[in-house]
Amino acid sequence: MARISVRGVVQGVGFRPFVYRPAREHGLMGWVRNTSGNVEIEVEGNEEAVGNFLTDLEAKAPPMARIEKVEATFHPVKGYTQFQIWESLSREGQYQLVSPDIATCDDCKKEIFSPTDRRFRYPFTNCTNCGPRFTIIEDIPYDRPKTTMHKFDICPRCQQEYADPLDRRFHAQPNACPQCGPSLELLDGDGNPVDCRDGITAASDLLKAGKILAVKGLGGFHLACDATSEEAINALRARKRRLSKPLAVMIATIKEIKKHCLVSPEERKLLESPQCPIVLLRWKHGSSNISPAVAPNLNYLGVMLPYTPLHHLLLTETGLPLVMTSGNLSEEPIAKDNDEALRRLSGIADYFLLHNRDIFARYDDSVYIVEGMPQAVRRARGYAPYPIFLPFRSKQILACGAELKNTFCLTKDEHAFLSQHIGDMENEETLDHFENTIKLYEKLFRIEPEIIAYDMHPEYLATKYALQAGSGQGLSLVPVQHHHAHIVSCLVENKVEGPVIGVAFDGTGYGTDGTIWGGEFLLADWRSFQRVGHLEYVPLPGGEAAIKKPYRMALSYLYSLLGEDFTLDGLPVSKLNPTELEIIKQQLKRGVNCPLTSSAGRLFDAVSALAGVRGEIDYEAQAAIELEMLTPDEVPESESYPFSIVEHQGVRVVKLGGLFLAIVQEVKNQVTASVISLKFHHTVAQIIVEMCRLMAREAGVTQVVLSGGVFQNRLLLKLAIAALQREGFSVLTHHLVPCNDGGISLGQAVVAHFSSK
Ligand code: ZN
Ligand code: ZN
Ligand code: FE
Repeated sequence: MARISVRGVVQGVGFRPFVYRPAREHGLMGWVRNTSGNVEIEVEGNEEAVGNFLTDLEAKAPPMARIEKVEATFHPVKGYTQFQIWESLSREGQYQLVSPDIATCDDCKKEIFSPTDRRFRYPFTNCTNCGPRFTIIEDIPYDRPKTTMHKFDICPRCQQEYADPLDRRFHAQPNACPQCGPSLELLDGDGNPVDCRDGITAASDLLKAGKILAVKGLGGFHLACDATSEEAINALRARKRRLSKPLAVMIATIKEIKKHCLVSPEERKLLESPQCPIVLLRWKHGSSNISPAVAPNLNYLGVMLPYTPLHHLLLTETGLPLVMTSGNLSEEPIAKDNDEALRRLSGIADYFLLHNRDIFARYDDSVYIVEGMPQAVRRARGYAPYPIFLPFRSKQILACGAELKNTFCLTKDEHAFLSQHIGDMENEETLDHFENTIKLYEKLFRIEPEIIAYDMHPEYLATKYALQAGSGQGLSLVPVQHHHAHIVSCLVENKVEGPVIGVAFDGTGYGTDGTIWGGEFLLADWRSFQRVGHLEYVPLPGGEAAIKKPYRMALSYLYSLLGEDFTLDGLPVSKLNPTELEIIKQQLKRGVNCPLTSSAGRLFDAVSALAGVRGEIDYEAQAAIELEMLTPDEVPESESYPFSIVEHQGVRVVKLGGLFLAIVQEVKNQVTASVISLKFHHTVAQIIVEMCRLMAREAGVTQVVLSGGVFQNRLLLKLAIAALQREGFSVLTHHLVPCNDGGISLGQAVVAHFSSK
């Protein structure tokens, strides 16, 4: 008799009925059951059959299952006479991995579009291979009473499917049909029911008429409108107070997507995957009727396929590409409850398409790019709460993450449960979402942290939360430097310990000297780091104001590197309001409200403003992104601008005066912003290589890690990787975890594990 333990995502994904089939095929007797820690199987039969069964377990597992470990031990025969599915067993303190929500499978899709099926046009159709999971789970083990489906009494026909081991819906906890399951409701902007025969048809007609609809999805509300209507999009932008930040678009099929965007085979695979993320695709502006207002000044369009039956039905009936952006006011978390949506989104949405299946966990759409391999930009739906696997057994740690694009991370055993994207921690609502989600993860994975890790920035809400929670419970508190966390997050997802040269380029991170870092070269491993180099410091005139107004950064570089008397004649920044200019000059001169920064993000901002691309922004990194967008697809070889490297007490500093002088000259000579952008990107790549070469020689290190939000810049990433590889470095980059601050918490947890006693 073989006793088999299977660990991974093996519950709620049709694993037991799957086990049932090969057991019968190979003529084996015994049983299978769920426990709170694994799936247990006992099988008896001849040796070859057991061997084949074990092979099938891993090779033929159902699409949503993620097998982490299969262990088999052999024991005396017990004499089973049949193969059965046993009752689940709950064991104290044990936990299972929880499946993310998964896009509608092909079988379910077929049902909702076939007029004779009992689930024809039913928007909540799902099965063990697809549908909501994480967003409806209140506790484990994953059974219907512990999900938000508990309020729906299952009908006899659905129950029959649920109980039949050979049915696709065997033990599908959210199983439902039009007779017994959740239903839709269409309300007007004031919350009054709209008189209509069919909510989907009525909603589709409204979308076609240019209305803005709040549509309840898996993990929250979307705001939807016709993506070809500039008028609808502008109305949405004005009401949501999101002036130019790009919006995601949902398009019915791959064939349809290809009319608007270039799609590589890897991108297609990702779009069609069960995770179904938003993928940033190269936009064919000329041949696309999607309004440029969806993503002003950008060459990429964020596109996803429909991932719930409701989406499929809406997309088919409207026949339009639809803007599908998170249902919130800028900066706030995505709305999830019906009354909450009516309250928060009234004034934004003209109509509400609601349903009565409650959402337990807020869950935004994930965003990916494919640059060689898929890389997470925002990790949420379809991915969280599946863990990142650690190459060591971890203590139980809560890492609280950073401020923008916050995620937290809870560790236990070899699992790092990196939360879904929480949002920008700038308000009460997001802080609540953060705290509630921590509680949910602690409960689902039975984690009681002994250590709390946090960013050194004293003003981050996540830091304040950590200090309060940690001191209240007497836990040990470990501060982790922001850029060290960036580098370690990349190291650990690549399962490399270091030391490496970590290039951490981002907008803002609190340094150990109290200045704002962001153009950092660290000699780092999981435990500690040494800052061996950085971009030279310049003042941030007006602090936060300098981030929102890149022209302030341009002035800062010009005046502090080229001298107070530097004349702005002939430059776009000279057109500034003279009073503001005078104030900035005085600020710089006296150092009032001028914290120092070595930020690479601010360097990109300054160049963007100086080249006349963008002087003021309304979303993060806009100036840098628009600068990057000016460069051609096929990157030609290019000259670069001068820079120098000086060493002071073992730390190398990149001096940028030469670079700015050269760009000033180019602007005065009316060289195009596109050429300046290209040369500048080449220069930054050269700075990286030059610094790494100098440091690697001394440290005897040949590996380089690239992390930090600046590496979302695909051109820079490509140039830096190529240049480093030419020099013989091996280069590690992010794939599972965002290179932006969404990855910080993972790095914090790992550093805390190794640096605490
Ligand atoms: Zn399905
Ligand atoms: Zn039913
Ligand atoms: Fe950062």
